[in-house]
Amino acid sequence: MVFGLFKRKDPVCGMKEEKGKGLEKHEKWFCSQDCMSKFDQALKKSQKHRGGSCCH
Ligand SMILES: [Zn+2]
Repeated sequence: MVFGLFKRKDPVCGMKEEKGKGLEKHEKWFCSQDCMSKFDQALKKSQKHRGGSCCH
């Protein structure tokens, strides 16, 4: 919630958010569809690994 104050960056390649560019998902910013799907895959893997018993 407080993170809205900060400039975001692509968690996959580390590129800084640019207005009017990229995509948004999971409250995060991605420079491209490619990075977004990479993040999605990593997320699915980690959720599978943990068994999904944590937060939701
Ligand atoms: Zn990227």
